[in-house]
Amino acid sequence: VLSKLPDVGTTIFTVMSRLATERQAINLGQGFPDFNPDSRLIALVDEAMKAGHNQYPFMPGVAPLRQAIADKIETLYGHAYHPDTDITVTSGATQALMTAIMATVHPGDEVVVLEPCYDSYVPAIRLAGGTPVPVPLRTPQTDDPYYRVEWDRVRAAITSRTRLLLINFPHNPTGAVLNDADLDALEKIVSDTGVILLSDEAYEHIVFDGVLHASIARRPALAARSILIGSFGKTFHITGWKLGYCCAPAALTVELRKVHQFMVFTVSSPMQFAVAEYLKDPLPYLNLPTFYQAKRDRLFEGLKKTRFRPLPSPGTFFLLADYSAISDVPEAEFAKWLTTEHGVAVIPIAAFYGKPDAPSSNRQMVRFCFAKQDATLDTALERLQRV
Ligand code: PMP
Ligand code: GLN
Repeated sequence: VLSKLPDVGTTIFTVMSRLATERQAINLGQGFPDFNPDSRLIALVDEAMKAGHNQYPFMPGVAPLRQAIADKIETLYGHAYHPDTDITVTSGATQALMTAIMATVHPGDEVVVLEPCYDSYVPAIRLAGGTPVPVPLRTPQTDDPYYRVEWDRVRAAITSRTRLLLINFPHNPTGAVLNDADLDALEKIVSDTGVILLSDEAYEHIVFDGVLHASIARRPALAARSILIGSFGKTFHITGWKLGYCCAPAALTVELRKVHQFMVFTVSSPMQFAVAEYLKDPLPYLNLPTFYQAKRDRLFEGLKKTRFRPLPSPGTFFLLADYSAISDVPEAEFAKWLTTEHGVAVIPIAAFYGKPDAPSSNRQMVRFCFAKQDATLDTALERLQRV
């Protein structure tokens, strides 16, 4: 009776990172880089602190950062968000998601989510009194190795009670990305509904093989009904700074800020000023695909020489691998065994489903994070070859 989230334990990321530390395993589980951000970015925080930016910043985020976010989105995707009325700086994408869900979902509302999905979505929907309505991604087929959205199934899941459609591309944990045809389908599906689109684009700058990120901000009709969420954690190798944002039309932003101001009020001032300044140079994020593609290829090719069967990853810093040639135990058990017996921590796919088990179409899969130094990946691969 007391618990509002009776089915929720400690997040898998915390569980696996703790086990990795205890066992001194290489942590390819939780998604974070094992290297430092650009030293210039670190110096900018120091400068911001010395310039006196050490007290509460403006509730929606400091002006230079909201302006820099607006400029970047307009240049890359075309949509002009107004920094004063449409952009709110948050403590990472996680808080942006909770804020967006709390501000829009009423008890009894349905929220369509694509599964597998990031583990905060379903508990956030439940806390708001909403009902998650999962739609599975199509799993890889022999003639098509990618996870894909089956838009007919998304359309079928939308009812008169649907408040939000929650999407996340590039997709954690499968690496799936959207293309232009997907945006067409999405536009058609939501066009004559009252559904708000919540688009978690935390990995917007990690898209491989020369593909351009299909942001909802490329489509005016989608942007007009969407909450767009971003995070600087993945883009600038600063997951520990917890800096993200949400962009939405002014009327929606009014509602988002009502929640934001009482959830955190505002977020770290020197970090905001530093990132605002750093955003003046587009090269750090424009170079990110090349940087991570080399790491993806290193891990993918290396895993091909093991008994794991890696799946191609078109985006994010994750890839999934099938371990059915090694073991038939469930994913969580396998991940713990791999960590304790072989010294490599990974995340079980089951953690990305609202139910305790992965569906039969997507079993015996674990997620590897390749946001690591080459030497870390190589040592992990040596260990994995012995599995
Ligand atoms: N959304 C997705 C899909 C994620 O993978 C993550 C975490 N990496 C987040 C949101 C949370 O991002 P942040 O660390 O900025 O809170
Ligand atoms: N998003 C990161 C991941 O998927 C982890 C974030 C967290 O630890 N909550 O690994």
